[in-house]
Parts: sequence; C-alpha cells; structure tokens
Amino acid sequence: MIISVASGKGGTGKTTIATNLALSIAPINKKRTLKGSATNSNILFLDCDVEEPNAHIFLKPKFKKTYQVTIPVPEVDKRKCTYCGKCVEVCQYNAIAVVKNNVLIFPELCNGCGGCSLLCPEDAISEIKREIGIIEEGRADAINFIHGKLNIGEVRATPVIRSVKLKVKSENGITIIDVPPGTSCPVIEAVKGSDFCLLVTEPTPFGLNDLILAVEVLRKLGIPFGVIINRSDIGDKKVTEYCKQERIPILMHIPFDREIAVTYSNGIPFVLYKKDWGLKFKNLWLQIEKLIRN
Ligand code: SF4
Ligand code: SF4
Repeated sequence: MIISVASGKGGTGKTTIATNLALSIAPINKKRTLKGSATNSNILFLDCDVEEPNAHIFLKPKFKKTYQVTIPVPEVDKRKCTYCGKCVEVCQYNAIAVVKNNVLIFPELCNGCGGCSLLCPEDAISEIKREIGIIEEGRADAINFIHGKLNIGEVRATPVIRSVKLKVKSENGITIIDVPPGTSCPVIEAVKGSDFCLLVTEPTPFGLNDLILAVEVLRKLGIPFGVIINRSDIGDKKVTEYCKQERIPILMHIPFDREIAVTYSNGIPFVLYKKDWGLKFKNLWLQIEKLIRN
C-alpha cells in the first residue's frame, strides 16, 4: 500500500505528518505480520522531496548504501561533425547550439532525451553520464528509509525522484512517500501510483489556494485523498468550508502547539513525546484504510 503525503505549498508540516505517521503505524504493521495478514513487517519511507530532503532529521536512519543518479548527456565528436545544425533543430530544451565551427552543449538544460544523438546524420554524438544527484538508503529501526538528494545547482528533480521510487516495486508492505511541495512535475512523479494521498494544509488564504490546486492535480490523476489541517486553530474557516463543499474528508486537525513546535525544531517527531498523538495517528491510518477499501 502506497500512501503519499503532499502539500500544495511548502511549510505546512508535510514531513512532520509523514514521519509521525510512519513511526505510529510501524508497530501496527508488525503486529499484522505476526497474525499473517501482511507480507512484510517493514515500513518503507521514501523522501522524494529531493531538493530539500529533511525526513532523515526526524527518523535518524543509519545509511548503508549510496548510489549516483545520472542522466545521459551528449558529447560531440568534432572529427565527424559537419556543423549542420540538425541537433539544434531537434532539441526542445535549447541545450545544444552550433556557433561557427563549434557545437556547444549546455548540460544543465539537457534532459537526456537522446534525440540529438539519434538524429545526427554523421553519427557524431555519443552519450556520457552526468551525475545530478544521489540516493541514500538506510534503516531507522522498523523503517526502511530511502531519500534522494538533488545536487546543488541542478534543476531536474524528476529523474532523482524516479530513482528513489524504483525501490517501491520490491517492497510488499506499507510505503510512505514524502512528496515535494507544490503541484509541478516533481510532485506528479512522486505521487503517481499512490493508493491514497494525504494533503496537508493550513487554514489561511495561501493554504486554501494551494490546496485547491493540489486537489485538481489529484483528481486528474485519479488518486483518492483526504486533508489534514495543521495549525488548525489559527487563520479562518475557509479551508473547512471548501472541504465540506467539495466533499473532501478532513482526517485530522492539529492545533498550533508550542510543544510540537519545540520538538520539531529539535528534530524530534512529536508522537515520541505526546503519546495521545500516537493514538491519533493510528486512528488516521485506520481511516485511510477504510477510505481505500470504500
Ligand atoms: S547534428 Fe551531428 S553533425 Fe550536425 S551539428 Fe549536430 S553533432 Fe554536428
Ligand atoms: S539529449 Fe535531448 S535534451 Fe539533451 S541536448 Fe540532446 S536533444 Fe537536447
């Protein structure tokens, strides 16, 4: 079962929800395995917020493996090149230019589609690998943890997210995905294939605006979802009214709480300190299961 935790806007507490949920349901999943109703006692946590992964700060995994993420970029053999400009015509990303008797490649713009090497009439283009990020894999008690890190200065997050998600196929248990904020391509890549998505928002005009955009995306993708309102006792009631009007289930309210803020700033998941919240997250999980079943 794949549950993604997303948010139309950054700073709503998405990672807080994802990490606290993972810690709260890990024991449930283990118990089910003992009863034989689940195939794997592990929770798999994927931090796909590759531009700023920070779930490891809360779950504190011990990393055991690191992989490079590369994309293929063109390399021109000047002995074969006739400077015909066909590669420039085919490139939709302006990543290649012919200037006098020189072919210039702009690797940061290249998305590795391979079109230029395929269509070069002189077979003058080969492909070399360029590292754009890394994947780190480790374990935090009962949680298998994987995150991607996009290299500084790189703009293409999607291939790194795709590499993080490759691991899902080999896992049979529960996967929780921390999705990047927003509604752009990296979000689609991270969220697609999910059985359910938790949308984390806050009761402010910005929160509402970005929630509406995220809802549109999930409806287009056909992924069932519910909403969590963080800092629910500040702001206004418009998010609640919108959810009611759109028949979107609100699965949890988290009021503004100084103690939660302090544990967050110390990198501590608040379910470890506030046991009643552990129960609330377990209930949240049961609600998700029910909504998926229905
Ligand atoms: S298409 Fe091939 S031959 Fe033509 S300019 Fe590009 S690299 Fe050179
Ligand atoms: S591989 Fe694709 S994106 Fe990169 S330079 Fe060639 S045509 Fe452009």
